[in-house]
Amino acid sequence: MIIDYFTMSNKQRTTNNELLIKNGRVIDPANGVDKECDVLIVGDKIAAVGKLEKSAQTIIEAAGKLVTPGLIDIHVHFREPGDEEEETIASGSAAAVAAGFTSVVAMPNTRPPIENETDVEYIHRKARQARKTHVYTMGAITRGREGVELAEMGFMAEAGAVGFTDDGNGVQDPAVMLRALKYAGMFDVVVAQHCQDDRIAANGVMNSGYYSTILGLPGIDRLAEEAMLWRDIQLVRKTNVHYHAQHVSTAGAIRLIADAKKDSVPITCEVTPHHLLLTEENCGDYDTNFKVNPPLRTQKDIEALKEAIAEGVVDALATDHAPHLRSEKELEFLAAPFGIASLECSLGLYVRALIEPGILDWPGLIRLLTEKPANIIGVDKGTLAKGKQADVTIIDPDAECRVDAAAFRSKSRNCPYDGWTLKAKVDKTIVGGEVRFSADG
Ligand SMILES: [Zn+2]
Repeated sequence: MIIDYFTMSNKQRTTNNELLIKNGRVIDPANGVDKECDVLIVGDKIAAVGKLEKSAQTIIEAAGKLVTPGLIDIHVHFREPGDEEEETIASGSAAAVAAGFTSVVAMPNTRPPIENETDVEYIHRKARQARKTHVYTMGAITRGREGVELAEMGFMAEAGAVGFTDDGNGVQDPAVMLRALKYAGMFDVVVAQHCQDDRIAANGVMNSGYYSTILGLPGIDRLAEEAMLWRDIQLVRKTNVHYHAQHVSTAGAIRLIADAKKDSVPITCEVTPHHLLLTEENCGDYDTNFKVNPPLRTQKDIEALKEAIAEGVVDALATDHAPHLRSEKELEFLAAPFGIASLECSLGLYVRALIEPGILDWPGLIRLLTEKPANIIGVDKGTLAKGKQADVTIIDPDAECRVDAAAFRSKSRNCPYDGWTLKAKVDKTIVGGEVRFSADG
């Protein structure tokens, strides 16, 4: 189990403040709880869940609202160090709590990348200073994310890295990936992969198919994702080390994962909101806000991903929040960077993609945003069990809100959902017993 580096500096905080959240619909999938009751927080811990006949210094009335474990997003890009004009750990953390996330995992493809213990400690320090959400980080698998030599995985694991990935790139050389898996197996930390065979993907900028042909843009064949994933599954069969497939986007890929799971291969996977809501057709106006990697695929792929979610094959929902400057995204489609900034509207997007069509109910959705992602990164979170750290999200499930990218706390505006009207609004976000976000200010 990973030590909670974020709160260590707060240890001196010996408050016994009581915070009582009353009359909400408490959903705690890890403990099979879905009932109207109260949650009592004492200091920074969950003290009790149930019908509580008591008062407290602070009372939050939550009738009509959902009270859930703090949401967890295991795939965000906070761009610090190196691209602080796009996002910082402070701005990303503020966006995260406004979106209900009490823990996020930053990807290591910063400049320079997160590849040794000092880098990991730097992220933790910045997160503590921001005092918003818990920011964990993955470390790079290889030095410079170049896919050749392994990075200092052992030291990073010791410093609290919750996984390893060269995200943005896949590890191309199977021998390097095999070595990475064997090495990571010694620390019990997950190896995550951005599955993309660069020789197949070449210089593609969108899904390869009918639309890339008529738009005259180079395509990324789905095989780029599936070939690397297939290869990795063979490596995982051999090493039996926990492997996580990031942002799965194709029907073929999710089938490979389902089959591997049937064989008890230790594989988990995540799906993003954009791969559930948008298709290659959206690239039709050459709008670079739809340029993302892996690319937007087809309706058939969306159906396959949704079916897999309904069947329990998918372990987590993650945004892959990838902020970019407007000046960069205003380049032509070929030259613009890949990425969608969606952290701040993600809950509504998940509701649109999964609850409204009846793929999941609320407990099902919350499970994929709490208990399951916590298990993937091995942190003792994602539940409201007594004694656990008091990370809690309060959601108004019926409130409608219009996505306004201009009002994002994130520094970036590259959001293709700008102007969409979505259901479900985060009302309060409580991190370690402190209200760190409140919709009413
Ligand atoms: Zn990626």
